[in-house]
Amino acid sequence: MAGTYTFTIIKPGAVNNEHIGPILNKINNSGFHISAMKLIKLRTAQAKKFYEVHRDKPFYNDLIEFMTSGPIVVAILEKENAVEEYRKIIGATDPEKAEEGTIRKLFAQSMQKNAVHGSDSDENAKIESDFFFSNSERFSIFEERDF
Ligand code: ATP
Ligand code: MG
Repeated sequence: MAGTYTFTIIKPGAVNNEHIGPILNKINNSGFHISAMKLIKLRTAQAKKFYEVHRDKPFYNDLIEFMTSGPIVVAILEKENAVEEYRKIIGATDPEKAEEGTIRKLFAQSMQKNAVHGSDSDENAKIESDFFFSNSERFSIFEERDF
């Protein structure tokens, strides 16, 4: 069964261009619940660990430099089939190939400065969420709560 949450980053370029509000609006309007969120600046070691799968790629060093260049928003988003549903609304990695109306089409500056990250599997959604959030920082709509 597909998972109910994904992990996202609003990347430095989008934060710097005051796109946090419009991107969160799009996320909520697409039926996602924000179950965890914070504004942080990645340290180089954290960025390297997060993007370790890309360490042999030619764009790796530039990517680490970019991702540590300013504050980012990290968040956990809930919806049925969240990973796939979120990848649909963010669009292709290359914003020129992203569909009209997607977050990357609307807010990306380039392939590298492509506005947001979205987990690519349920397994990575868990790893990435656990990397940034403790249990006391997460508020699931799928678990019982009493506000
Ligand atoms: P993300 O993991 O950030 O959600 P993605 O899964 O669509 O993006 P990946 O292939 O995992 O794409 O690449 C991770 C990130 O590395 C991209 O979001 C982008 O910022 C950067 N990147 C990927 N390919 C290139 C490239 N050819 N040139 C420059 N930057 C790139
Ligand atoms: Mg990826």
